[in-house]
Amino acid sequence: MTSDTLLSYELSAKMADLYNRMEKVYDDVARKIDFSCAGCPDNCCDSFFLHHTYVEWAYLWEGLHLLDKARLDEIRLRAGEYVAGSEKILSQGARPVIMCPLNESGRCSLYLHRLMICRMHGVPSEITMPNGRKMHFPGCFRCQELVGEQADCWVVDRTGLYKELVALETEFLGAKRAVMPKVKMTIAGMIVLGPPG
Ligand code: SF4
Ligand code: SF4
Repeated sequence: MTSDTLLSYELSAKMADLYNRMEKVYDDVARKIDFSCAGCPDNCCDSFFLHHTYVEWAYLWEGLHLLDKARLDEIRLRAGEYVAGSEKILSQGARPVIMCPLNESGRCSLYLHRLMICRMHGVPSEITMPNGRKMHFPGCFRCQELVGEQADCWVVDRTGLYKELVALETEFLGAKRAVMPKVKMTIAGMIVLGPPG
């Protein structure tokens, strides 16, 4: 892995394919419960989420590299403000609520390169951990209101998708995976730091 090559062509295609399939399983469940974000008074892009893979970080930057310099500079500026603002709020023991620097006029401006959590948040989902423990995510407040008691009827099973992401992370980092520090970063942090490498 080097900072100038980022993802290989093959790895980039695999990420696009995995992200597409995440979107499909999400859309499938959303259709079945007749759920969408349309008309929601909230916008989850101001939620404080941390992301955990270098391969997603690199794929995000693949998208950012497609932007012209003026737009990238604007996004970098907003990302810097996000990082400073969230650090201040976190130091006061609160959870930041600050709009993601990639959100423009309520919409994601880097939609094809948005990260896994952005693709999974909303509908109910579950994951089976390597130790067999199952974790259930009930979906956003609006989805919970919609499905009520039926929350277990239709869920996205994240397990296989997560495993595939971990495999791509391993492919990206190679032998370095064992020694690289763990990623625990906001999207804004990934933008401020530049591509991983
Ligand atoms: S995920 Fe739910 S809370 Fe978030 S914007 Fe969509 S409908 Fe609203
Ligand atoms: S990357 Fe896009 S979808 Fe994800 S939080 Fe930012 S604006 Fe929203």
